[in-house]
Amino acid sequence: MTARILDGKSIALQIRKEIEIEVASLVAQRGIQPCLAAVLVGDDPASQVYVRNKEIACEKAGIRSRLYRLPSGTTTTELLDLLAILNSDAKIHGILVQLPLPKQINERQVLDAVLPAKDVDAFAPENVGLISQGRPRFLPCTPQGVLQLLGRCEIETAGKEVVVVGRSDIVGKPLVSMFLQKSGPYGPSNANATVTCCHSQSSNLQKITQRAEILVVAIGRPNFITSEMVRPGAVVIDVGINRLGDKIVGDVDFESVSKIAGAITPVPGGIGPLTIAMLLRNTLAAASS
Ligand code: NAP
Repeated sequence: MTARILDGKSIALQIRKEIEIEVASLVAQRGIQPCLAAVLVGDDPASQVYVRNKEIACEKAGIRSRLYRLPSGTTTTELLDLLAILNSDAKIHGILVQLPLPKQINERQVLDAVLPAKDVDAFAPENVGLISQGRPRFLPCTPQGVLQLLGRCEIETAGKEVVVVGRSDIVGKPLVSMFLQKSGPYGPSNANATVTCCHSQSSNLQKITQRAEILVVAIGRPNFITSEMVRPGAVVIDVGINRLGDKIVGDVDFESVSKIAGAITPVPGGIGPLTIAMLLRNTLAAASS
């Protein structure tokens, strides 16, 4: 079997075009131009690239973006002071604090300080709670990208055995919560899954992943999931982004797994572009509310 390739890049482009139209109509009808503030602390090269890509995507969609660069020695208090200013600026609708932050900064305290109504990453406790209760304000960008991809590729999750490998607050945990809900971005067929979550302490990982009709992997371990770990015909969603020499690879060994899976996301060109599209979607939602 050769797996169907789930082309996240082209789906993301389509979504971005839709957002561009919605932004233009928000500007025309209500005079509101959505604006995203991105905060970048330090000079981590990967973070600089991510922030730049987000800025470009904003510009193309008609969303204004403002970048706040702070030196690597910034303290938690200094960052909290900046967030207080951004929280109270009515022209800013969304705030993004690029992670990781330098070690001396209390990341939890910083993320908690973003006003929930501007928390387009959906990391604030209030927003996490709303997701878990099935009445989200924003859906976090990467997990939302996974559900968008499945929805747009007409891959139903309802009643399916879904295994999520990874339990981070950014990807694994919110994704589990979203799969468990009674409805997703594309309705009941885009949720209602039977979900298992695995992590580094899980025993018999292979036995569990082999059960998955839909397998989502977000662990940050290059090519970790091999074909023996995958049920034939399964849908495999690879969230991982790992640098291996001069190549970017996922957490799934694409070469072997694409021969046994029914469908698979490539890396790059899978979930990554959708994550950015969802950031635009959340910024638009914040500006429209
Ligand atoms: P993270 O915070 O480092 O969490 C990794 C998770 O994987 C943890 O829950 C960890 O378990 C688990 N894990 C690690 N090794 C494992 C193993 N051998 N077996 C089973 N579970 C294991 O990572 P993250 O932020 O979720 O990111 C994961 C990957 O996704 C990274 O490659 C990252 O670059 C990528 N990512 C991509 C996007 C995108 O836009 N496509 C967005 C975000 C992240 P413990 O909890 O037990 O430690």
